[in-house]
Amino acid sequence: MAMATFNDELDEVPVQKAATTTGTAAAPATAKTHAPVATATTAASDEEDTPSATKKEEEENLSTDFDDEKVYVRTGQLNQCRPEKGKAARFSFVPKEWIAPQTAKAHWVDVPDSEGKVRPQRIRCLTPLGADADAQVCCELLNEDGAVEVVALVVRYTNADPETGKYGKDDKVKFAIEFVRLSQFNMRQIKKLPDEDKTPFDIDLVMTHADRAFGYEFNRKANSPRWKSDPAVEAAVKAAVSRFLDGKALRSKLGVKHNEIEWKSLLSGKKVGAETKIENVDEL
Ligand SMILES: [Zn+2]
Repeated sequence: MAMATFNDELDEVPVQKAATTTGTAAAPATAKTHAPVATATTAASDEEDTPSATKKEEEENLSTDFDDEKVYVRTGQLNQCRPEKGKAARFSFVPKEWIAPQTAKAHWVDVPDSEGKVRPQRIRCLTPLGADADAQVCCELLNEDGAVEVVALVVRYTNADPETGKYGKDDKVKFAIEFVRLSQFNMRQIKKLPDEDKTPFDIDLVMTHADRAFGYEFNRKANSPRWKSDPAVEAAVKAAVSRFLDGKALRSKLGVKHNEIEWKSLLSGKKVGAETKIENVDEL
């Protein structure tokens, strides 16, 4: 939890700034620092082609400045979509044909870090989802079931009204690709939002965090995703989401992976060394 806050503060601004340029004028903001070729290409190729662009023969142009958006983009960096208390966050799910929401069970466990400071860590549960699965070592030793969580990529509307999620009629969409974390309760709530012939992927939602409420509320804000109503924005969304389509960053939000031995060692009070962790290997 502490880590998530840390992430938000450090990363929200640059990521949103980056998305802002992609969302509106697309190519020009970043293109101006590349070879002129980039201007002619679509927004989609702008970000993706940069590293592998044909610059071997020519001299590389590595110049930058403090308002150069590409300096602030962190590959694979994915912020959580969630409003502060009393505020609203408007979003739309990224089409499931691009990347489906991901689910797994997890436990929160207090784990000492390298300096011996104890921090709560989300660790994937070894018991498979479903009612008839046999409880595995983590659930047995912790004496609790792993909590089912769902994470999904979303198009977060960064310039919608922060209190209501509303847009003015002619407002142009600015966005950031983020992820939303959903409990079983949230899933049930969201499932009910669209009209009968629609799915949650077909609408805009607004997520609120009432001042006194414990969790988040989800409501329908529009009957179709606003980002799809402008072809330029739609193209920019496609481009921005492309680096997350391998699912790596999204799945990592479900928690770190421990095998049975690691779980046992962790819960017997022994320190689990970084070198014994396998989550990164498994993610590949
Ligand atoms: Zn478990």
